[in-house]
Amino acid sequence: MSVPPLLDVVVVGAGAAGCSAAIQLASAGMDVAIVQDAVGPQPAIDLLLTSVAVQTLRDTPSLELAAHHAIESIRLRLPGRPLRTLTDVGAYAIRRGALHDALFFAATSAGVRLRADEAIAIERGEGCFELMTAERATPLRARHLIVASGGAGIGVPAAGHSADERRAVAVAARCAGASPQEDSGMEMLFVPPDATTLSATALSVWAVPGVTDAELTIRVAATNPDDEDHASLLARGLDALRAQVPQLGPLTPLGGLVAGVLDTGYSRERVAGAEGILVGDAAGLVNPFTGEGLSYALESGAMAAEAILAHPDDPAEAQRGYVRRVDFAFAGNVETSRRAVRRDHLAWRYLSDAAESDHPFLAKGRRAILLPEGLKGITDTLIATLEPELQALAGPFLIACDEVMVSTIREDWPFLARMAVTGVGTEERLRPALLLFAATLAAGRELDVRHATLGGGLELAMMGALAFLGAAPDAHARRGLDWAQVSVVVGGDFLLGQAARLIAMSGPEVSWSFAQWLADLSTLRAQRLAGDPNVSADATSAAMYEFPARLGAELARADDATVETLRDVGSECGRAFLHVDELLALDGRRTRLDTTLDFMTSNRLASDEIAREQSDAARVAALKATARAATDAAEKRGQDALARLPASSGRELLDAFLTGVCKPALASGPSPAAS
Ligand SMILES: Cc1cc2nc3c(=O)[nH]c(=O)nc-3n(C[C@H](O)[C@H](O)[C@H](O)COP(=O)(O)OP(=O)(O)OC[C@H]3O[C@@H](n4cnc5c(N)ncnc54)[C@H](O)[C@@H]3O)c2cc1C
Repeated sequence: MSVPPLLDVVVVGAGAAGCSAAIQLASAGMDVAIVQDAVGPQPAIDLLLTSVAVQTLRDTPSLELAAHHAIESIRLRLPGRPLRTLTDVGAYAIRRGALHDALFFAATSAGVRLRADEAIAIERGEGCFELMTAERATPLRARHLIVASGGAGIGVPAAGHSADERRAVAVAARCAGASPQEDSGMEMLFVPPDATTLSATALSVWAVPGVTDAELTIRVAATNPDDEDHASLLARGLDALRAQVPQLGPLTPLGGLVAGVLDTGYSRERVAGAEGILVGDAAGLVNPFTGEGLSYALESGAMAAEAILAHPDDPAEAQRGYVRRVDFAFAGNVETSRRAVRRDHLAWRYLSDAAESDHPFLAKGRRAILLPEGLKGITDTLIATLEPELQALAGPFLIACDEVMVSTIREDWPFLARMAVTGVGTEERLRPALLLFAATLAAGRELDVRHATLGGGLELAMMGALAFLGAAPDAHARRGLDWAQVSVVVGGDFLLGQAARLIAMSGPEVSWSFAQWLADLSTLRAQRLAGDPNVSADATSAAMYEFPARLGAELARADDATVETLRDVGSECGRAFLHVDELLALDGRRTRLDTTLDFMTSNRLASDEIAREQSDAARVAALKATARAATDAAEKRGQDALARLPASSGRELLDAFLTGVCKPALASGPSPAAS
């Protein structure tokens, strides 16, 4: 019998993950086949595509998305807690069939061969994988194999997990009967598990606005599922939602429901090995709190393709490259381990008890748990806007800083690790490590990846410093343990402790400056909160951004004048940062601190005139003009300081940083001076 030809790649499963990988690989010229088993007709439902999923689809070659519409906000509900609206979420709703058709069409256009067959076993052949299928007498042979068979398909069991630990169930149905939504938001309700044991089922219920009017897809995901049947799970979720949102009371399912198993048991050990590369649900890449999986499926598919394209002739190296990519990109969001229950406990506590707070530290943590937004792994949007040579200069250092940060904190605070590598929406990620790098370069010395421990420590410190931004808790306000406050204090302390350790390890000569900076920051905040008229609102952010620039100058052993100039650049970046956030808050847009105007004023983060009055439209317009003028003034002073530095790549990077800080102000209309 003749040996079947050797393909470059075989993919099992034509869902989002499999198609994403296959399209990228075939578009790069590889010979790719997808094996997809028969799927019977299923009722139509609308899916939520998070901003990351949308971005990955936009980056997928030859893919055209059919009708889909924007979801701009998410109304987050937890029983017994006040409603919280997450804005600027950048998500979409799409009919499930339309998404699958678009992926199929793009795959076939890219030259992927689709085979209707069922994969039944995977074996290792001579220098290749062999895939046994139900219909073929001979195996399909390929150099690389990607398993994208979903949560219930073939795949290796997660190392160290029992099957039950890893499973969640999702059920969805289109519903009608309630009055159409007035805005383009969606409902997201969480019913946490029992607070002490975590034993009971936790529910996440979504009401995804329909692509056609007056319809909603209700999707209920249950973690720790018991044997409840799908119809009663849907009914239970729907009842819980109706109890929270009375106007959804009349909602009733239109027809059949769609259900499936979700595997939330990601671990780096299971995603590559004797069965090839596992992507999407097959790799356990599903958010254990929301049951969201499309972004992970699309992204992990793309990462598998990237790893294979980097090592087309070396499957073992491609697997290692994939594990590195996926493990880093999803750090903290979808991990389970022996400590999974404890971690989940912490995250549920964070979601539920911190629901009332707009503290930036808690608000950022909330988004990090719920939305896989911001970055695709280590991509940095600010870096992406730079000239290629500047990217090449700073990129490796920043990537290494990310790796240090994530690996330092992921074990203990997984969702803080996600927060660490997440930007705000589509805005540039303002990295203190870039400021450090650029300042050192501008002062005549070059940092390289070996200094990443210092850069990673600095970024953790900046995250930890967010914990300072709230007012001191009222000791008598609440009886018992105030989890929100505990999270801020413990999380902030943890980050600062890790930062101090990393900085002491890698830059003992600047350890003292670091300790002094922390002391200065807390003094400034205390003075501001106490109403000291000499401490302006932007003093804290100026001090925050001044430090990385000063540290860079100190590391380069710059002369006093250069140190002062670089401090000025950093301070002005910080001042502009605060005034841009004021502008965003006054505009009702998402702030970079992820907080609200109310929080900013009641915690004296915003300028005093904003705190005094923001009642009518004319007054708000005047305040915006003031914030805009303050931003422009800070930018101008920053540019003047930059002009005092000799021309260098470091100066160009600092210029890009300052411009990045001020950029959202442009979307707020012309500057008062120009108009
Ligand atoms: C009811 C429901 C609603 C959901 N809603 C959302 C949502 O709105 N937003 C969101 O982000 N996530 C949602 N999810 C999760 C999301 O659907 C999954 O995370 C995502 O589809 C995973 O993609 P995948 O390609 O890894 O797997 P799948 O989409 O499951 O695709 C796997 C494919 O492999 C095929 N296959 C399996 N075994 C074999 C085999 N042996 N041989 C050949 N082919 C095989 C299957 O037929 C299937 O086509 C929902 C899940 C469910 C169940």
